[in-house]
Amino acid sequence: MSTHRFRIGQSGLCICLSENAKTGLSLNSGFDTCSPSKLCPSICYCKRRPAADVGPGMSNNSPITWQTQQAMYSANSLALRAFVGTDEASAHALAEKMADLLHRRHNGQLRINGQGDLIAGTVRLIVLLAQNDVLCWGFTRKPGMLHLLRKAGRGLSHVRRPFFHGSVDASTTKGVLDCLRGETRRLNGQPTLAAAVLAGTPNHSGQVSLEALAARRWIDSIDGLRVVFGYHGSGGKTVLGHPLECPATRGDAVVCADCRRCYGES
Ligand code: SF4
Ligand code: SF4
Repeated sequence: MSTHRFRIGQSGLCICLSENAKTGLSLNSGFDTCSPSKLCPSICYCKRRPAADVGPGMSNNSPITWQTQQAMYSANSLALRAFVGTDEASAHALAEKMADLLHRRHNGQLRINGQGDLIAGTVRLIVLLAQNDVLCWGFTRKPGMLHLLRKAGRGLSHVRRPFFHGSVDASTTKGVLDCLRGETRRLNGQPTLAAAVLAGTPNHSGQVSLEALAARRWIDSIDGLRVVFGYHGSGGKTVLGHPLECPATRGDAVVCADCRRCYGES
């Protein structure tokens, strides 16, 4: 996993981008930026699964759980918090450099929050990147940050508007789910929700399990869903057998730049 560092003005703080085969370049931050649901400790692919869930031959460790990566994401949290108050010239200079890399290396798009969630500094960076023709896309559990993004992004050109899904799971309250549905509709022109589903035991086909049957009923009861993720992480993955299932986490040989569903283009 390689990284790219962008220094904020003359400060000692850097915002770092990570790179992986599935999503390409991404901006991750520490768990301190999350607004975790009750299910996050079990469902989060960035965390090691409890040892009891890890069967023979399965790994409980992946690059995203490595200490060096976690330290970098925590440093990103600090840098992004500082970025809110960074002077205009330094903030624009950083965004231009980052945009240049993203256009050269990654077709002008950036995955936001492979780990972590939106904070005000991330929103500022996303708007500056959009002004440099970069499409930022990702997932959030925070309706308030979608509201801030929409307000801060007023006047952005239609082509490179940021695109976010509201992230829900079975423990998300009705109030939060309704707010995410409303804020994504205002941001994207239609509700765009993503469901994380923990069904069955990882590395066993959830598709034929009773848990997956129940999960599919729950999935079909939610209005505005566009994508569904079975558990995929350091302890294996489950296959849900739902038409909205992300093809990459289902196991197809596809990367986000081929699929593009979460770019808001299809
Ligand atoms: S990264 Fe996402 S799934 Fe993981 S703890 Fe944070 S909000 Fe939850
Ligand atoms: S649905 Fe497509 S774009 Fe979204 S995460 Fe999966 S592969 Fe990537």
